[in-house]
Amino acid sequence: MDRKSRYSAGIKRKVIVVDDEYVNRQMLGFIISQQYDVIYAENGRDALEKIRETKSELSLVLLDIMMPEIDGFEVIRIMKEDAELKNIPIVVLTADESAEVKSLELGAADFIMKPYNRPEVILARVGRIVELKHDRSIISDTERDTITRLYNRNYFYEYASELDRYFPDWQMDAVVIDVDHFHLVNSLYGRNFGDKVLAKIADTLRNILSDTMDGYACRYEADKFYLYSTHINDYESIRNRITYEINSLGENTQIRIRIGVYLDVDRTLSLEDRFDRATLACNRIRNNYTVAIAYYDNKLHQDAIFAERLINDIHKSIENHDLIVYYQPKYAIQGDKPHLQSAEALIRWKHPEFGMISPGKFIPLFEDNGLIQVLDHYVWEEAAKQIRKWKDEYDVTVPVSVNVSRMDIYDSKLENRLLDILKENALKPEELLLEITESAYSDDPKQLVEVVQSIRKLGFTIEMDDFGSGYSSLNMLTMLPIDVLKMDMQLVKNVHTDERSLKLVKLVEEIAEYMGYRVIAEGVENEEQYNLLKEIGCDVIQGFYFSKPLPPEEFVKLFEKA
Ligand code: C2E
Ligand code: MG
Ligand code: MG
Repeated sequence: MDRKSRYSAGIKRKVIVVDDEYVNRQMLGFIISQQYDVIYAENGRDALEKIRETKSELSLVLLDIMMPEIDGFEVIRIMKEDAELKNIPIVVLTADESAEVKSLELGAADFIMKPYNRPEVILARVGRIVELKHDRSIISDTERDTITRLYNRNYFYEYASELDRYFPDWQMDAVVIDVDHFHLVNSLYGRNFGDKVLAKIADTLRNILSDTMDGYACRYEADKFYLYSTHINDYESIRNRITYEINSLGENTQIRIRIGVYLDVDRTLSLEDRFDRATLACNRIRNNYTVAIAYYDNKLHQDAIFAERLINDIHKSIENHDLIVYYQPKYAIQGDKPHLQSAEALIRWKHPEFGMISPGKFIPLFEDNGLIQVLDHYVWEEAAKQIRKWKDEYDVTVPVSVNVSRMDIYDSKLENRLLDILKENALKPEELLLEITESAYSDDPKQLVEVVQSIRKLGFTIEMDDFGSGYSSLNMLTMLPIDVLKMDMQLVKNVHTDERSLKLVKLVEEIAEYMGYRVIAEGVENEEQYNLLKEIGCDVIQGFYFSKPLPPEEFVKLFEKA
């Protein structure tokens, strides 16, 4: 099981970040906080105190060396001398390569170089060490899974392979059962109740095995169960039965379970691989509230291989210019006739093997693993060069908006990076517009607002992208440092067919006007939508009605029309 899927199972392991510099703490914290529960300490003393407090649940200490009073070396020494702390792994954070040997000698498990410019490497290192520590402890505590009295995973695999040996002709299914947001169950109703839920699931599985099918079950970890059993076609009734039993525990809960099934397993695969396939299916419906059972199929398999390939290929593709920036025009529509106001830079991947891949396929993938920053920086640079080129060759100024991902915002070098790009291309900040998606604002509004405020002070225009697609509250709108609201396609889609939809868009327009934000409507596809939006007072329109995103050489044809 990889770190990712463990994260999806709702368990966030605790990691402490010790650094006397606030910015360093926050940076590292941000990088790892999606996958870990992060505690911060600002000096050696504070660290030791917090480590002692959380020792039983702490998976890792990330430790700065250079700190006043008690420095990192001293913290390592103290921990190694303390029987209760000495097994908590320590990773040293340093800008000084010579500190490596000394830290390792003292007993650090690994070290991470400052500055933190490769988030994916950091995540991989942290992940590896946490897993090692976890695997060690799991062996001892699952030997006695007192909560469920099910087999631990080693015994489970042993019995399952025995079953394979004795009954080579049976059709078998590999099934993964996972409780949605189990950490919430624990925090809302208490761990005791959480334990009861797990025990209930285990009981039900035992009953199912004794009366409907043959096989074995185990609690694989935390809230995740494995079932290796004789083949059936429909898992709906299994799920209903488990859900019914859990919800009969009282507390008026609505606990949901997800099931991933790999039907009629291929016995030439290892048991682990069979359950990986079931896990893949189970993860696919992680945040899906309409589907609770997923079956592994060949497509899933292909998707996983595809994702792996894309991750491997990104650097090469940037070098070879297989990643190309397209430009979609935005037109100002309130004058006599629409005029070209700016453009949005949108990435396209012309993969030498897979052909054209749309961003919807790779952006979410790269957002998950940090590679999005590499991609975004490339797009910003390309876009800036393009603006310059149009100025020089056509004497036309087209401001271009670029998409800024959540990860970019927490990069301490963001401001400098943007300023450098402007400088290299002799551009003004108002020529490079920044689009930040709505959902970024709802995640951690406070920190984001601070960063965005300071970028905005530099003169950049901030557009809130995808407005209306997520959960931003109207209240939040009054506090945000933005210049433009980009109404999401979904909001605009039915303005011409649905009265209520039109009302809503009018309302957004009014609020924006009141707040002094300009409004851009995205995804405008036809004349009816265009006319209505113009009438309402929308300033700028982007959409197929005017043009699809175009490669730069085609975009210039729009200059003549403008
Ligand atoms: P977005 O930033 O909201 O971009 C608008 C998307 O709507 C683009 O999809 C565009 O092609 C599409 N679109 C524009 N007009 C119409 C229309 O009239 N009808 C319809 N149906 N669609 C229209 P695209 O290029 O596939 O990009 C999808 C998303 O991928 C973008 O949504 C953005 O979130 C992300 N993305 C694209 N390029 C980048 C990039 O360089 N960096 C980052 N971080 N994200 C990017
Ligand atoms: Mg955008
Ligand atoms: Mg958008």
